[in-house]
Amino acid sequence: EKVFSGFSKTRDNLAVIDELLLYWNLSDTDRVLDELEEALLVADFGPRITIKIVESLRDDIYSGKLKSGSEIKDALKRSVLNLLTAKGLKTELKLGFRKPAVIMVVGVNGGGKTTSLGKLANRLKKEGTKVLLAAGDTFRAAATDQLEIWAERTGCEIVVAEKENVKASSVLSQAVKRGREQGFDVVLCDTSGRLHTNYSLMEELVACKKAVGKAVSGAPNEILQVLDGTTGLNMLPQAREFNDVVGVTGLILTKLDGSARGGCVVSVVDELGIPVKFVGVGEKLDDLQPFDPEAFVNAIFP
Ligand code: GDP
Repeated sequence: EKVFSGFSKTRDNLAVIDELLLYWNLSDTDRVLDELEEALLVADFGPRITIKIVESLRDDIYSGKLKSGSEIKDALKRSVLNLLTAKGLKTELKLGFRKPAVIMVVGVNGGGKTTSLGKLANRLKKEGTKVLLAAGDTFRAAATDQLEIWAERTGCEIVVAEKENVKASSVLSQAVKRGREQGFDVVLCDTSGRLHTNYSLMEELVACKKAVGKAVSGAPNEILQVLDGTTGLNMLPQAREFNDVVGVTGLILTKLDGSARGGCVVSVVDELGIPVKFVGVGEKLDDLQPFDPEAFVNAIFP
């Protein structure tokens, strides 16, 4: 299994914890926890949850609840898993019963949005889902070409703007309409990803969400934000901004096969209260995996 093979750097960062805990004894606790704190920070867990985790371990050690290095390690893994699954966060796609279900994919250029969309189309199609792609990135001319390649690769049909200067929102509502008329299960909508500080992009995303909602007489089932895993904690402000404007329902963290540091996965879930639904682990068709919190924790703390 290829999942999480990319966290070698994180594993290296965190390997020191095993060594620390192997020789832990009560009188050594503060020094060990200082070093554990350092290791978590280096692995991009961020100060807030690092302190939360370390202080709860300290309490449980001094109250006698944790009596050995291996009990401390288990408690550490448990608290990371709890952070990832807290608040009833669901990692499964929520497609409901309405046909077609609509998934909007958002995120800034370069993060892996189009690739993830193609990989997601491939997954859904393999599960027997009838998928229609919608080329909603009308801002970047090459984006439509790129999505057309993915449509061909996955054998999915695609709706593109018929002429220049068509609004993204009208391409998407047209796609949803066609999806309904022709019995598609899912309409997978690409959106523009020019710089998120560009206000008109945010306006456009809101317009897209509204148009899609109107076309299905409801709301999109999922608004998935694609975040580049290699940006580490820097992804947080970007994620917050998209969430504030369009209300993100799930995250796709890409490039986790590369030099991503695993702690940022935990930070982003904890900070935003939004579940990771998929992870990108490569550039090929099958390199999008459902996020499995337990497998993730076991991968970074083997
Ligand atoms: P977009 O601008 O957000 O649509 O980004 P693209 O989908 O074009 O991806 C940008 C680059 O990242 C491309 O070279 C992709 O092949 C690459 N990429 C996307 N996802 C992954 C991933 O999970 N792992 C790796 N290694 N590369 C990825």
